[in-house]
Amino acid sequence: MRDPAIETILILQDRDTRRVALETQIKAIPVDITLVERHIAEEKAALENARTELRELESKKKLLETEIGSAEQTLAKYRTQQLAVRKNDEYQALGHEIETVQAQISEFEGRELEIMFAIDGAKRKFATAEATSKQNIAGNEARIRSLRERGEVLATEVKGAQEEVGVARAKVATPWLRAYDRMAVRGLPAVVPIHGGKCGGCHLKVSSEVESAARGKNSDGLPAFCDQCNRIVYWEA
Ligand SMILES: [Zn+2]
Repeated sequence: MRDPAIETILILQDRDTRRVALETQIKAIPVDITLVERHIAEEKAALENARTELRELESKKKLLETEIGSAEQTLAKYRTQQLAVRKNDEYQALGHEIETVQAQISEFEGRELEIMFAIDGAKRKFATAEATSKQNIAGNEARIRSLRERGEVLATEVKGAQEEVGVARAKVATPWLRAYDRMAVRGLPAVVPIHGGKCGGCHLKVSSEVESAARGKNSDGLPAFCDQCNRIVYWEA
């Protein structure tokens, strides 16, 4: 039959392992939320960039329209002037100005057409991006909500696990508890069985003294320690 001291400390280790696992999970939640929030921000920024691109094209188009409008006014003014002049050289000079402005207008119109084409493309691109983006953002926001819910569930579970650890600790004799705590800060397991003469923690061979202490041969009621890694060892047939 196994030493009752071993039984109580194994129960403590079991509860402690569960507590540590839950605490690790709960610590990961804010990190995960931050990551998802970053994805959302990136998604929004990309969409905003696409929107800005479209706006810039639209304001370029407006600018060109204004320039075309004022060039057309100039053209009309020259044409009126041309009707009024008497001298042939003045008439020709105005005719030359008119040609220049006409060329300018057709160049502006060419550019306007290119921009209108670009706007169509940008609008299509933006609509697709917006649809995908909205879907991704909604998915990520749902992920955050479920992470928060998971966090709340975990918080309750951690509290329960901590209470269970408290109950288990109360049943462990002081020298065992001290030995356990000393090892547990380095990470669990702090209590391991001996299998085939080897420590279940570091897998190195234990001395025959340790082995017989673990078997409870000296029966001083104190824990036996692995002479390699210092974990509490117990005999498991
Ligand atoms: Zn060991």
